[in-house]
Amino acid sequence: MTIDVRNLVKRFGAFKALDDVSLRVDDGELLALLGPSGSGKTTLLRIIAGLDWPDAGSVRFDGNDALSRGAGERNVGFVFQHYALFRHMTVFENVAFGLRVQPRAVRPSEDAIRRRVKELLDLVQLDWLSDRYPAQLSGGQRQRIALARALAIEPRILLLDEPFGALDAKVRKELRRWLRQLHDEIHVTSIFVTHDQEEALEVANRVVVMDKGRIEQVGSPGDVYDNPASAFVHGFIGE
Ligand code: ADP
Repeated sequence: MTIDVRNLVKRFGAFKALDDVSLRVDDGELLALLGPSGSGKTTLLRIIAGLDWPDAGSVRFDGNDALSRGAGERNVGFVFQHYALFRHMTVFENVAFGLRVQPRAVRPSEDAIRRRVKELLDLVQLDWLSDRYPAQLSGGQRQRIALARALAIEPRILLLDEPFGALDAKVRKELRRWLRQLHDEIHVTSIFVTHDQEEALEVANRVVVMDKGRIEQVGSPGDVYDNPASAFVHGFIGE
């Protein structure tokens, strides 16, 4: 599914968090959205997900207007940095949750839910943790489970907002590689938000650089690294 964002403006009072943002994401692409804290990345993701609405501009999925649809009707999965799993539920129940809350007409049977959760846990290579509780998992394992949960509804679009931001450097590096491999398998149109230049360049085939609510640059990791248009990219790694 393609995402076509045109001329988005989002104001909070007098402050413009998004200032005429246009962006296209190709079908099956893994795009990195890179920018310093406060540049508008999360605001853009929230509007694409249907968690917030813009003051002006359009969002289209495969050419169809998305803004007239609510969050539940957009078929978008997301993973956030602090996307806490439900503590009182096992890994299995956490992943099954997205399936159980679907409207009755489309809700799968218990058998189908079991099969689907097993498939998802296999996909993130954590089937062996099915009966554990989140407190018993490492940070990296938790984010992989959060990703399995986001994928449970078979989203056409996946939004990842600093999903590895809270993890230590070694685990982050492993998960980047893992995410790339996973994406090669599932090909869901994805936007990966990060303020870490190295992470953006490593994860994605195309990088969009944002600063102060505007898009500063769009290019391949090589272009962005070699010809940084933004002061932000110059020598900036981490926060
Ligand atoms: P990023 O994800 O790049 O760190 P955000 O999209 O979260 O940036 O925020 C962009 C700007 O908009 C920030 O200055 C932030 O303080 C402001 N902002 C975001 N959400 C709100 C809100 N609900 N009310 C007021 N200001 C907000």
